[in-house]
Amino acid sequence: MRAGNKSSALAGEVRAGNRRSLARALSLLIDETSESDALLQDFFPESGRAQKIGLSGPPGTGKSTLCGRLISHFRGQGLKVGVLAVDPTSPLTGGAFLGDRLRVQEHVSDEGVFMRSLGTRGMVGGVSQTIYGAIHALEAAGFSKIIVETVGTGQDEVSIAKVADTVAYVTTPQLGDEIQAMKAGVMEIGDIFVVNKADLGGKDKAVSDLRSALALGRGREAKPWEPPVIAVSAATGEGVPELGKILEAHWEYLQSSGEGRARLLAQHKEELSLYISRRLYRRALDRITSEDLERMLDHRSDPVSVARRILKPGRG
Ligand code: GDP
Repeated sequence: MRAGNKSSALAGEVRAGNRRSLARALSLLIDETSESDALLQDFFPESGRAQKIGLSGPPGTGKSTLCGRLISHFRGQGLKVGVLAVDPTSPLTGGAFLGDRLRVQEHVSDEGVFMRSLGTRGMVGGVSQTIYGAIHALEAAGFSKIIVETVGTGQDEVSIAKVADTVAYVTTPQLGDEIQAMKAGVMEIGDIFVVNKADLGGKDKAVSDLRSALALGRGREAKPWEPPVIAVSAATGEGVPELGKILEAHWEYLQSSGEGRARLLAQHKEELSLYISRRLYRRALDRITSEDLERMLDHRSDPVSVARRILKPGRG
């Protein structure tokens, strides 16, 4: 159902390719303003069209640099590329523009590239809660590859799998021991493992260590998709076309195997549960009265009783 006159006009401009309107729609969705519900409803029918590629891995492994390379790769194929960078270090403006980041500078004036960084606000497990709305807007605007880049610290790395269709985990030969000690959770979410900075040497050992670690982790059972390990250099561009082919192959695998549908279902469940929890939480907090607090102060009531009353089913 499409709703809301004002947002429908805005949504129409987004679909027509107006970048300023897209930027505005993204801000409304990310900040979850009063207009965001109608926008979300308007854009949702387009969901599932784009391949959402998660770039994850420890800081400094070259994710941003690689992101720039992937943008060029996809642009070379005539595809529109959206980039959502979940960046805890970005200011809490709810939408700082990424143009200041040198590595993606060359794409700033490209009409077929749209970049937005999402601050830490509203973050759960490293991924901004309202990122789904931003993705739906980009999909409606015809962006067919959406790169979601995270600054990884444990928890983030796993939560990206709830947003992305394809997770590329980025590491480097310099991280040697860390590769071997890679956490099981990370091993499970990676669809592709990228050993970046191949130009610095040590890539063969890193690739074979990673392959052995993956083989150990997965046991004997053959999987329909065995995560490939690929060495690249984001600095020189070496290996990037091959990485592009693997990303495409994974996208085709998702379409042909039913796994893509399974992942979309999981994403929708996550989006829905986050939406519900935000609404319920806000509604519940609105029900706290000063009388409740006074009663607690006088010990005539307690947190458990007050919360039970507030959360009682059937309350309007
Ligand atoms: P991120 O924190 O994972 O986003 O990593 P960045 O993209 O910011 O890169 C961290 C540093 O590694 C920067 O100084 C990059 O120039 C450098 N870097 C990235 N990729 C490569 C590469 O393939 N080879 C070399 N030698 N340096 C790289």
